Amino acid sequence: MSIQRQKAIESAVNYRASETPVSSESHVEAYFGCNIFGDDQMKQRLPKEVYRKLQQTVENGEPLDLGIADVVARTMCQWAIERGATHYAHVFYPLTGLTAEKHDTFYAPDNKGHLITEFTGKELIQGESDASSFPSGGIRATFEARGYTAWDVTSPAYLIEGKNGVTLCIPTAFCSWTGDALDKKVPLLRSMQALNKQARRVLKFFGHEDPGMITPSAGPEQEYFLIDRNFYYARPDLLSAGRTLFGATPPKGQELDDQYYGAIPERVLAFMQEVDRELFKLGVPVKTRHNEVAPAQYEIAPVFESANLATDHQYLIMQTLQRLAPKYNLACLLHEKPFAGINGSGKHVNWSLGGPRVGNLLNPGETPHENMQFLVFCAAVIRAVNLHAPMLRGSVAHSGNDHRLGANEAPPAVISVFLGEQLTAVFEQLAFGGTASSRKRGVLNVGVDTLPKLPKDATDRNRTSPFAFTGNRFEFRAVGSSQSIAGPQVVLNTIVAESLDYVATELEKAPKEPKRFNAAVQKLLQKMIRENARVIFNGDNYTKEWRAEAARRGLPSAGTTPEALKQMETPETYEVFAKYGVLTERELASRFEIYREKYVKDLFIEARLCVSMARTMVFPAGVKYQQLLADTAASLNALGKNTCTTTLDEVDAILARLQRAMHTLEEAMLMPENLTVEQQCGYIVGSLIPVMNELRAEVDALEHVCSDEYWPLPTYQEMLFIR
Ligand code: ADP
Ligand code: MG
Repeated sequence: MSIQRQKAIESAVNYRASETPVSSESHVEAYFGCNIFGDDQMKQRLPKEVYRKLQQTVENGEPLDLGIADVVARTMCQWAIERGATHYAHVFYPLTGLTAEKHDTFYAPDNKGHLITEFTGKELIQGESDASSFPSGGIRATFEARGYTAWDVTSPAYLIEGKNGVTLCIPTAFCSWTGDALDKKVPLLRSMQALNKQARRVLKFFGHEDPGMITPSAGPEQEYFLIDRNFYYARPDLLSAGRTLFGATPPKGQELDDQYYGAIPERVLAFMQEVDRELFKLGVPVKTRHNEVAPAQYEIAPVFESANLATDHQYLIMQTLQRLAPKYNLACLLHEKPFAGINGSGKHVNWSLGGPRVGNLLNPGETPHENMQFLVFCAAVIRAVNLHAPMLRGSVAHSGNDHRLGANEAPPAVISVFLGEQLTAVFEQLAFGGTASSRKRGVLNVGVDTLPKLPKDATDRNRTSPFAFTGNRFEFRAVGSSQSIAGPQVVLNTIVAESLDYVATELEKAPKEPKRFNAAVQKLLQKMIRENARVIFNGDNYTKEWRAEAARRGLPSAGTTPEALKQMETPETYEVFAKYGVLTERELASRFEIYREKYVKDLFIEARLCVSMARTMVFPAGVKYQQLLADTAASLNALGKNTCTTTLDEVDAILARLQRAMHTLEEAMLMPENLTVEQQCGYIVGSLIPVMNELRAEVDALEHVCSDEYWPLPTYQEMLFIR
């Protein structure tokens, strides 16, 4: 066994969770939210009038009164310094999908040899940042590189405690100086505004003269892998690409189904407990933790929150998982497919919309009137998903997710909606009259008493649908585990806003008299369901039959990122984003550019890793084993025996193929010049990935036969089962 691999195993086996320090804090109530400058702190510390003005912005989306910034900054700074902070950082969310931050100290020289604290309203509200090193897809090329970050009042500032100090982090939006969005927060906030506006228009028709602010909510379920950190460091592919590029199938995988909800290993539980505690301090309401289906796979899920906050918190969850794992000698893998042949990781985003005055608009109501409203909102979502499926698919497209979507474990690459039997029956009866269901014959009538009580709970646990109604929300399951949840929500909010705009515009034409109005709603619902019924599917999304059926229904399907982006980049997509003020044509075009560039870069990193690992680790191990076999064969031959010649022939054949595959991949990596980034994507799908797969097949074949003593890489068995 290679020394590196041996050391990794020893260290992993000898690790004891009890070696990590235990926190003295025990009561969650005592520390929940202690590291945020949230509502409690603001109420306590800010002058009443200032607090009231801030609240108006936070709760009603009113513009921020800049006059109060200095007071807020002073107070926030004081609070942070009391808690040990020395620096502050505008945290922003660039298109890399990660967070970015630049730290500045609160202290400045007073010219008399001392320091004074200085944190002004201006510094709180706006920070300057050199945007040139962040992906901006062409926006940068035409304009100046300067970008600025702007305080997002609606997401509380928080403290990050480092080993040697504390930093005040201020969530911000990131724009170019011309006002172009360079990040994921700006379009999210814009899409929330668009949704709010259109939802309120519709609600007027259901008796809500002043429905208050309507906000989308998100509850993201994060899946992740944990493996011993020594294995992680011993694998260049995990280190640089986040996934194993090679690795033979282990004798035992997940076939026994003995992992899901199983007892959590001691070390992992200790880790989870600290993660929960740190997140509680940051006011992140984490709720669920459990083993997932694959070995070494786990899940963490918070209680849902309003979209913007949930998104910032989701970043903090990912960050905290990765920050704390090393403390337990673990590595947290957020990649969608760290191990071939083992379930990948997703991030189900549970999505709904509503407000304090109207409640959850996707909750079936008690009265026929409430149910009519529910059906309208529900139908609007169905229509949105059907008309704009390529946008949804595009919002989850990136190289990592390509390994997951379409495989038999995650939702397929065809976007459809699961409604459950009962709700489907209601919609069918509304739209087409009596159906197979047991309900009364004849067309259902909204707004009158014949409407049955609608399902309150998730009746069905269909796990195969990419977009499932689960009782009072939709669950978008195609989102990847490493992804920011901003993008998928931007799309959802925008397309549902478009759908609600359509509904409001139709209802504005309807007569006001209640009976006739109800009839108009009925007609509109019928039309919407009839026109969009093709997207509803309650069966098993993993089957071949569904793929064929989906094709018959004309539902788009995209198996790869380049295909998904291509299908998304249509004039209609540009129009929808522009119409609702979410992304201008230039902003959207730059995003497509960035996502394609990212795909190309990701794949070339993987290709280079494949070649270097094959050449410098795998091939030498194979040759060494071949030598051993050859030497042995020679000595045995002298004795008139030939016990190992068959194996030698096998190894010989694999090595010959392996060598060829390495060369083929190296040649394939010489991509023709002058290709557009879109053509580069096509080249990768057609010419690079297939040869990477061929190389992998040979490497894995070699692993199956090579002496364990020589094998340089931690195996699947070791990584997945030594905990
Ligand atoms: P499951 O694994 O059954 O899908 P979980 O409990 O793991 O359910 O996660 C469900 C997620 O959905 C949680 O984050 C929960 O807070 C969230 N959720 C519940 N109701 C809503 C809602 N109305 N809108 C958005 N998210 C919701
Ligand atoms: Mg779950």
